[in-house]
Amino acid sequence: MSQKVKGAAIGIDLGTTYSCAAVWFDRKKRVEVIPNEQGNNTTPSFVAFNDSELLVGEGAKDQIARNPTNTLFDVKRLIGSRFHDPQVQKDMKSWPFKIIEGPAEKPTVVVELNGEEKKYAPEELSAMVLKKLKECAEAFIGREVTDAVITVPAYFNNNQREATKEAGTLAGLNVLRLINEPTAAAIAYGLDHMADQTWHNDKNVLVFDLGGGTFDVSLLKISKTGVIDVKAVGGDTHLGGEDFDRTLVNYCVNEFKKKHREDLRRNPRAMGRLKVACEKAKRDLSSSIFAPVEIDCLYEGIDFSIKVSRAKFEELNASYFEKCIKLVEKCLFDGEIKKKDVDEVVVVGGSTRIPKVRRLVEEFFDGKTVCKNMNGDEAVAFGAALLASRLSGNNDNDNDNVVSDIVLQDVTPLSLGVEIAIKGVHGNMSVVIPRNTSIPTCKKGIYHSLIYETHACISVYQGESNKVKENILLGRFELCDLTLGSNGMSKLEVCFNIDVDGILLVSAEETSTGQRKSITIAKI
Ligand code: ADP
Ligand code: MG
Repeated sequence: MSQKVKGAAIGIDLGTTYSCAAVWFDRKKRVEVIPNEQGNNTTPSFVAFNDSELLVGEGAKDQIARNPTNTLFDVKRLIGSRFHDPQVQKDMKSWPFKIIEGPAEKPTVVVELNGEEKKYAPEELSAMVLKKLKECAEAFIGREVTDAVITVPAYFNNNQREATKEAGTLAGLNVLRLINEPTAAAIAYGLDHMADQTWHNDKNVLVFDLGGGTFDVSLLKISKTGVIDVKAVGGDTHLGGEDFDRTLVNYCVNEFKKKHREDLRRNPRAMGRLKVACEKAKRDLSSSIFAPVEIDCLYEGIDFSIKVSRAKFEELNASYFEKCIKLVEKCLFDGEIKKKDVDEVVVVGGSTRIPKVRRLVEEFFDGKTVCKNMNGDEAVAFGAALLASRLSGNNDNDNDNVVSDIVLQDVTPLSLGVEIAIKGVHGNMSVVIPRNTSIPTCKKGIYHSLIYETHACISVYQGESNKVKENILLGRFELCDLTLGSNGMSKLEVCFNIDVDGILLVSAEETSTGQRKSITIAKI
């Protein structure tokens, strides 16, 4: 399974708001988290352009209020999406930077550099963050870093995965594997507990990862010997700390309007400063009952100062918190495990520091306390680093290396299928691979062309609705000059192949002639 690599191999948690990298040291037999230039273990996933330089990480985040239109963040919400996706259109309204439709419907970020416009695809911006992490890793390890395991939300679709892989390549990294973030956290958990003498049977572990932009939940069975079998995944690619920041910002905007009859939204700089202050207040509310939001000269010389209570914060976000619990329920249902049979609940992600979130999780699991001995900010990168070491084949001493014991069995997060016509009516989804199927996998379906049609169009979709228009179109290709059988139709065999990274290859073959076409869906 290992691929011999030249330089070091690291694990990277490329987060919506913060990223983290880690490396396994064979000599020390442990994983270490890689600090950035400022000495911190997590780095903001921010990129900024000013007239003289490109800033990545903390430098970029720190100057956002001064340079809002040229400071880019949340790129993970754009990666692998299409400009016209309703979610992209909605997100765009809350970002101060400019996005246009680029080639192949790609949302493209436009910044101004020395009076000139420059355009970047989301994967190019993510590549800048990855490159920064790579450089920090090289300084820390003391040698070149060539390879990486990069994590993605379990709920990422095919296009988002492929674009993330592309970002790695653009950063000069050979992407050994993409793995789901909760699976990486489970690897870290597994390693942490392998020495546990009381651990005899398999454990059902639920990973609850609530970060800045995304919510991920996974149900896994972990054996003491290191087999990690993912039973089900779920989540929401648009649910996280930024939503909580936004509700607080909206609340402040309304309070300001009430008091001063002025609309802060007219001023991007004021909004930028308010966002920073609200995120800070939100963090403070995890340890205090009240937090101030105070900004001098926020808008046309007017100071702003209010005190927000934890209760108010919880009330503003109650529906988001409830949504998390609903998604946990769905994941348990999909994984066919009762909540009483969950042995351990592992919480990761910055937003799980919110006391109400922890309390809701504990209440849902009937008072079971969540596993607290893992570092929630670093667990994902930690697990990715272990896997990177395993896959890179750089371990000198495989025999007594815990890393070599890991066996991963992951699943695909969303159902995959093709569009078919039933009684001449188009638009129905025929599922070829149901969600939560173990990967890698290969499944086939037999279809017929429409009667007397000598060409067939195969459209590939991902999603849970039986109407394709409610799902994500991944790609489409045609088979022409079909040979029609005596029934006036041609028989087609459609094969779906998902590799270990969760990336899909679809091929279709006309069974009578062997005419064959295929696409790697991600390449559209
Ligand atoms: P991601 O992986 O999505 O980038 P992280 O897991 O790093 O996210 O979490 C970042 C989020 O956690 C941010 O929205 C941040 O505001 C939030 N966060 C960090 N610390 C706290 C805290 N003490 N209380 C509440 N939220 C926090
Ligand atoms: Mg994360």
